[in-house]
Order: sequence, then C-alpha cells, then structure tokens
Amino acid sequence: MARVLIAGAGVGGLAAAHRLRRQLATSDEIVVFDQSPMHTFWPSLLWLMTGTRHSDQVQRPLAALREQNITVVRGPITAIEPTSKAVVSGDARWTGDALIIALGADLVPSLVPGLADEPGNFYTVSGAQAVWEQLQTMDQGRVVVLISRIPFKCPAAPYEAAMLIDGVLRKRRHRNRVTVEVWASEPAPMAVAGSAVSQAVVDVLTERNIAYHPRHVVSEVDASARVLRFPEETAVAYDLLAYVPPHRVPAVVAEAGLAPSDGWVAVDPHTLETRFPDVFAIGDVTGIPLALGKPLPKAGVFAHREGEVVADIIAHRITGREPEPTFDGAGECFIEMGRGIAGFARGNFYAEPTPSVRAYKPGRHWHAGKVAFERHWWAQWW
Ligand SMILES: Cc1cc2nc3c(=O)[nH]c(=O)nc-3n(C[C@H](O)[C@H](O)[C@H](O)COP(=O)(O)OP(=O)(O)OC[C@H]3O[C@@H](n4cnc5c(N)ncnc54)[C@H](O)[C@@H]3O)c2cc1C
Repeated sequence: MARVLIAGAGVGGLAAAHRLRRQLATSDEIVVFDQSPMHTFWPSLLWLMTGTRHSDQVQRPLAALREQNITVVRGPITAIEPTSKAVVSGDARWTGDALIIALGADLVPSLVPGLADEPGNFYTVSGAQAVWEQLQTMDQGRVVVLISRIPFKCPAAPYEAAMLIDGVLRKRRHRNRVTVEVWASEPAPMAVAGSAVSQAVVDVLTERNIAYHPRHVVSEVDASARVLRFPEETAVAYDLLAYVPPHRVPAVVAEAGLAPSDGWVAVDPHTLETRFPDVFAIGDVTGIPLALGKPLPKAGVFAHREGEVVADIIAHRITGREPEPTFDGAGECFIEMGRGIAGFARGNFYAEPTPSVRAYKPGRHWHAGKVAFERHWWAQWW
C-alpha cells in the first residue's frame, strides 16, 4: 500500500488529490492536510467584493473529500521533514512515499506599518466582504486599489477589482462623484505576459477613468486619517481602501529548509520536484524563474496544472510506468472588466526568450466562461 501526503488543500492540493485518487488503487492512501475546514475558490472573491456572491457561495467543506476516499487532516501543519517525507499536524507525525507541498503564500498585511488596521484586504473572505459593505454606502470620495508588494497571486486581480468597483459605482450612478485609482508597487500590469497585454489593461483603465500610478511602493498606512504614505509622495488620502497584502512563503516551509524566509521553494520547472527526492512543491509556494528574468506568475491555473502533473508523476513512480509527464508552462486567464464583460489571455509562459501570450478581444462570452469555470470547479468535486 502506498501513501501520498499533500500539504494544503487549496487549488493545487485539491487538483493533485483528485487526480491521484483516479489513478491509484483504492487501498493506496491519499492524505490532505489543511488548517482551514473550508476550501475557498479565490477567484470568486472579486464577485463577493462587489456583491454578486455570498460567502457561502465561495467556500465548501473539506470534510466532503472523505466521501471520495481521501483522508482529511484538519489543523495547522507545524513541521515538515523533507528528508523523511514527513508532516507533523497536531500530535501526529505522518510519513509518505511522496509528499506534495501546496501551502500557497501567507498573506501578511503587517509587513506594511498600519495596513493591518484597514479591513479591505480583498484577498480574504472577510476583507472582500468589508469592501462590499463600504462600497454599498459610498456616494462620493476616493477609492484606492492598492498593490502593496510584489509578488502577489493572480496578477490580474487588482486591476479586475478596480474595473468591477467602477462598474458598481456606475450602476449606482455615483461614479461621477467617486474617483477610482490604482496605486501599484509594480511597473506595469501583468508584465510577464508582455507589453501588449500590459498596455491593453492600461488602456481599459484609462477608458474607465481609473487613474493608474505604477512603481509606488507604499511605506505606511494611517488608517485613522485614511492616508497612504509613499517615499516619493507626501500622502494619498482615500475613503475606501481595497488592497492586495504582502505575500510571504509560509514559515513552516522556510523552517523545513525548503525555501529561504524571503523567497520561495525552488523546483525543477518541468517536474516540480524539490531538491529532496519525491518531495514536490506546486502553486504559489514555488518560485520558478523564467527566461526573461521574472518568475512564473502565482496563479490558480498553474497550481491546478502543476497539481495534476505531479499527481501523474507520483502515480507513474508508484506503478512503475514510463515516461513521466512534465509541466509545460501553459496557462490562461480571464480578466473581469465589470458590466458583464471580461477579457481572456492564453499562452506558453515557458517560451523563450519571452512568454508567448495572446490576448483576445473582451466580450460577454469570456465573462460567461469565467462563471462557467466557477460552476465546473464546484460541480466536479462537491
Ligand atoms: C481575489 C483573487 C482572485 C484570483 N483570481 C484568479 C484567477 O482568475 N485565475 C487564477 O488562475 N488564479 C486566480 N487567483 C490566484 C489563485 O487563487 C492562487 O494562485 C491559487 O489558489 C494557488 O493555489 P495553491 O494551491 O498554491 O494555494 P492555495 O489555493 O492558497 O492553498 C493553500 C492551502 O494551504 C493551506 N495552508 C497554508 N498554510 C498551512 C499550514 N501551516 N497548515 C495547514 N494548511 C495550511 C491553506 O489553508 C490553503 O487551503 C486569485 C486569487 C485571489 C486572491
């Protein structure tokens, strides 16, 4: 009997667990560990933030995986031992024939002084709800969407957030009295996808009268005065702050020697194996350098595909099948623009010397595609 341990039941961990379950014998054990009792479909938080979803529509209980012969261990992982492929959770120490690290990125608003005092961290369920609560009563003033630090997951999300907020304010006929701005620590939107994609996003922001201030790294937030401070600007006042918090590798991963505390887990870009044999890392917890000198974006589409590839590799090793499959860096992304419209981009991020990404004309069908994918995500597993 084989046993595969999966640390983290987010997008990548779930994809790996389900793929393994389909390939391994019923007697082989698949064990997933998560500190949360719920699986969250993060892309839906943008719709939670703008009132088109409720919190019970963006989460499902992980306990349901038990019905699919997947063991679920609830609670924080307190230690990982990569040399022995072991995970410690609560009082128990589990060992496996293979280990997948899929713990994502920790969100740490406190890395920017004062930021944690603001509720509008729309990368969490409660933060997205807080933005919606404030948005409903907003009839004048300034909305700031803030990208506090890079890297952050889903390079499109803050730009989608600004466009969706614009759409809500227009629908409520308050947009002419409310300014919407994006202040970003990065030089351009979705820069890894190439300058044409960046420019297309900037063009839509301009069309919507959303001011864009790239290359601004916030140094401090004064939540009581509602002011952001930047080293190069005196101050930027806001009435509603919707922000992307700083991301950091989970401490338990750094403590295990799998990553530096200020970096991410290094893996083989095609097999996702770490320097420890049969220990793999997938999704946001990894740092995969691309030929153009930037890392592969942190995105669910990659976590999902990597999870499936790693599951296939592990199943091949357990059953002695050859050759092993590999991850090819392909991915795609819907870009919500509000008013029922979305854009779409697809490409090969491992292409050299730069990723080859094609952006498609925005339309209602791409928005419908994103909604259909959300439905599919829940239907296939719950
Ligand atoms: C608002 C928003 C919109 C997005 N939209 C898109 C999109 O349209 N397209 C796209 O491709 N991506 C999107 N993303 C990004 C996508 O959600 C992430 O890239 C993806 O979830 C990464 O998957 P993962 O498995 O690496 O990590 P996660 O999905 O974050 O899962 C990590 C899991 O590990 C658990 N965990 C962490 N630490 C511990 C511990 N110590 N002990 C136990 N469990 C632990 C967590 O509870 C979590 O369940 C979006 C993200 C956000 C926030």
